Amino acid sequence: MPREELPCHVLFVGAGPANLAGALHLARLVAAHNEAVANGSAEGPSIDEPMIAVIEKGNAVGMHQLSGAVMDPRALDELVPDWRDRSDFPLERWAEREALWFLTPDGHVDAPWIAPELHNVGKPIVSLGRLCAWLAGLCEEAGVNVFPGFAGVDLLWEGDQVVGVRTGDKGVGKDGQPKGAFEPGMDLRALVTVFGEGPRGHLARKLIQRRMLDADANPMAYELGVKEVLELPAGRVQDGFVAHMIGWPLDRDVFGGAFLYTLGGDRACIGLMVALDAAPPDLDVHRELQRLKTHPSIRAILEGGKVVSYGAKAVTIGGWSSVPRLATDGAVIVGDSASFLNPMRVKGIHLSMKSGMLAAEAAFEALKSGDASASTLMAYDTAVRNSWIRQDMAPATNMHAHFATHGFVGGLVRTGVDYFFGAGKVRKTSPDHAHMATMAQRAPMAPPPAYDGTYLLDKLTDVYHSGTKHDEQQPAHLKILDPEICATTCAETYGNPCTRFCPAQVYNMRPDPADGRLRIEVDFANCVHCKTCDIRDPYQIITWVPPEGGQGPEYATM
Ligand code: SF4
Repeated sequence: MPREELPCHVLFVGAGPANLAGALHLARLVAAHNEAVANGSAEGPSIDEPMIAVIEKGNAVGMHQLSGAVMDPRALDELVPDWRDRSDFPLERWAEREALWFLTPDGHVDAPWIAPELHNVGKPIVSLGRLCAWLAGLCEEAGVNVFPGFAGVDLLWEGDQVVGVRTGDKGVGKDGQPKGAFEPGMDLRALVTVFGEGPRGHLARKLIQRRMLDADANPMAYELGVKEVLELPAGRVQDGFVAHMIGWPLDRDVFGGAFLYTLGGDRACIGLMVALDAAPPDLDVHRELQRLKTHPSIRAILEGGKVVSYGAKAVTIGGWSSVPRLATDGAVIVGDSASFLNPMRVKGIHLSMKSGMLAAEAAFEALKSGDASASTLMAYDTAVRNSWIRQDMAPATNMHAHFATHGFVGGLVRTGVDYFFGAGKVRKTSPDHAHMATMAQRAPMAPPPAYDGTYLLDKLTDVYHSGTKHDEQQPAHLKILDPEICATTCAETYGNPCTRFCPAQVYNMRPDPADGRLRIEVDFANCVHCKTCDIRDPYQIITWVPPEGGQGPEYATM
């Protein structure tokens, strides 16, 4: 099939904070270089008509972005030094008060001491979606081409060199055949391709596997984060309050924590993050979030509120021990796709942005020399390892391993020791999906509270608040390799955990009209693209691939 080709100098796949920071930094480096060549203060040819492109699978930049988020502005200070003075910066509030609570079933205990790195007062509370939309605007002003609605579905190779990506076809029917409005995907060819697709990046993962970039790293590890934004009674929110919580409702051997931030406009957000290596086969993070909202300390702030937005997303928590080799021939990996999140601080936007900026510097050198081989692009890998990214992430190097091996109390103590004395040698871990207990090994978790349709919501009502839309007349973007396993072995051993861990109720066991047997049905139109099924399925038979570009959740303010 003939496909249109679009040649690029540098292609950024995914419009998250890492790639947008990288594209903006690169556009400025190229502009400064061309100006210096023109006025004779630099040697070498100019980079004429630079084609720096960003593609994004959401229908607009920011629509697939979800985070807390109280941002560490360190990278933003480097990229846009005057951001505090700009009237267009999408600030929700400044964090003015903070707390770290250990939740018991009936109340909470304030942490007597908070490590300096964990302090949030004075930092900006932002919506990551709005931050990305703002960064995309700066990119476009600098001459970057931003293309929302285009999902990268495959890598383009010449031998072992990445030479770009193919975007998905549009207008394919359920049967895989072209429909009336069929448009074949494009081949975007680039000297350097930067993969910043977020956690469990579909193409980054393929690249890592084919080039064995993770040979010396731990497997990536993840939490599922679910978040709601609530409108509160007028006047309830007085200032920027930031609370982080551990403890109830999670069991002691389940790693996770919660957050509650007050936002502008009488709104607040609450979220819960739970490790996807958790043992309970019936873990349902959405259900645990609803239980969390029944806690007296939370009700005191959110009672009377109405949920207006919902979203879910996997979060990388493997930290430094899961960072793969970051460059190969023709390609580099940035942001969450490369595990750039500090699980101790629960912060990653600053690390992602800095990684994008360092990748941009290596791509710029490749552009000048015309050489995008691994040896040139490995300058990015070296730069990361010598940068403040490494220093920031170092104390949490073994945090995930400690909690996975020693449970909540043991993990906390060992992580505390690492904080003061250094993490030492990297401890090996195994993939998240290998840790699930069978139904026979584990008592069922607590049932959900009674839903009331405004404050305590069932999953499908929450999915409605995510704005998720998919054309149902397309092939399902969730592929189950062997559905018979779901109906037999998995049902008997684990009780079909996908029907619970999916935060959008995509997976349902329903009776087959032909023989009455329960079989898996995939309501893919509900999918909020969190990737949890791809990560946690104990048989690893579920694969998430991008649906038609421009579809999925619409997280305008998450
Ligand atoms: Fe997340 Fe998978 Fe459910 Fe989609 S189907 S919402 S990726 S768990």
